[in-house]
Amino acid sequence: MKTLNDINFKNKQALIRVDFNVPLDEHFNVTDDTRIEAAKPTIDKILAEGGSVILMSHLGRPKGAEGKYSLRHIVKKTSEILGVEVKFAEDCIGDKAKSAADALQPGEVLMLENLRFHKEEEAGDTAFAKELASLGDVYVNDAFGTAHRAHASTTIIAQFFPNDKCFGALLAKEIESLNKVLKDSEKPVTAVLGGSKVSSKITVIENILDKVDHMIIGGGMTFTFIKAMGGKIGNSICEDDKQALALEILEKAKAKNVQVHLPVDVVAADAFSKDANTKITDVREIPDGWQGLDAGPKSLENFRKVILESKTILWNGPLGVFEMEPFAKGTIELGNYIDEATQKGAFSLVGGGDSVAAVKQFGLEPKMSYVSTGGGAMLEMLEGKTLPGIAAIQD
Ligand code: AMP
Repeated sequence: MKTLNDINFKNKQALIRVDFNVPLDEHFNVTDDTRIEAAKPTIDKILAEGGSVILMSHLGRPKGAEGKYSLRHIVKKTSEILGVEVKFAEDCIGDKAKSAADALQPGEVLMLENLRFHKEEEAGDTAFAKELASLGDVYVNDAFGTAHRAHASTTIIAQFFPNDKCFGALLAKEIESLNKVLKDSEKPVTAVLGGSKVSSKITVIENILDKVDHMIIGGGMTFTFIKAMGGKIGNSICEDDKQALALEILEKAKAKNVQVHLPVDVVAADAFSKDANTKITDVREIPDGWQGLDAGPKSLENFRKVILESKTILWNGPLGVFEMEPFAKGTIELGNYIDEATQKGAFSLVGGGDSVAAVKQFGLEPKMSYVSTGGGAMLEMLEGKTLPGIAAIQD
């Protein structure tokens, strides 16, 4: 894996693909600068070595050059975070980009206008990628959030830097963390898979069955399994057409010696509402008119035991409807168990969509070994796919 350490950036112009797709308020102020902070180590290192930096990113989903999606809005914030005055080019290709890039001195940073103002970016256009490539000496990909897209700036561009391309620190860390879970993991390995549907997680489940010792299944997915096994699930969420698949997964798990842990009890509610009446029921005996919206106390006790015995933990998907306070406990408790296991030396990785939102919301983020920055990209890696943005650097 070629990283920043393998390249000497002195007097080199580094063209870095970052993911600065940050949320803005109605006055175009950055409301969450996590992604900018996340790119700082890479930028700092290149500047400290005597290089210059050109930042390229997308922002939102513009249809052509729409002012509200201009990266100009985040120049000030980026300057503050880097402690360097960031210059801005009003286009990412053409004369404006070229002259700004030519004028850049070692130690300086230039931000290009939104890549997606040109439809060629998402189309993965080679001529567009070549124009971008002409701005720098070295290509660095530090955008995990878009690594699963074969766009011009994330993948196609790499071919113009056959020897001068590498992963940024953030992307390298993402790959390394995932490898710690799926490749060089310390056993026992436990995957916790929650969320709403079996259908959206099926490829992940199938891929990781070969790599884990325990699989905890929770969230809305639970009920497709329980119904398939003959349980009464009341009005709980269920994908009837996935019942056969659920049984197949359980069979495969057995054959591969993977222990599957499903909830044994749930917090059931008489409506999908935070004001609903609730009661604890056996997961196989949920009355009609009631639905399971969180893992119950006995389930949590079981999950705790499994988690505390684990040396490697992967968590994807909440255990309940954590967005509503009465059904958040399972997800919070699970986070606490993983925290406990991590303190005892386990490696814990949280990734792929809603579980990241949950750990942030409950202040658990600093307690996990690693929290991934890319929802879709992480899910695709868990599915065992090769991400084009990663493959392009490894080629
Ligand atoms: P996913 O995007 O597949 O990870 O699903 C996350 C969503 O699953 C969250 O919005 C949760 O509210 C939802 N969820 C978790 N548990 C349940 C449940 N028991 N019933 C319905 N939805 C659930």
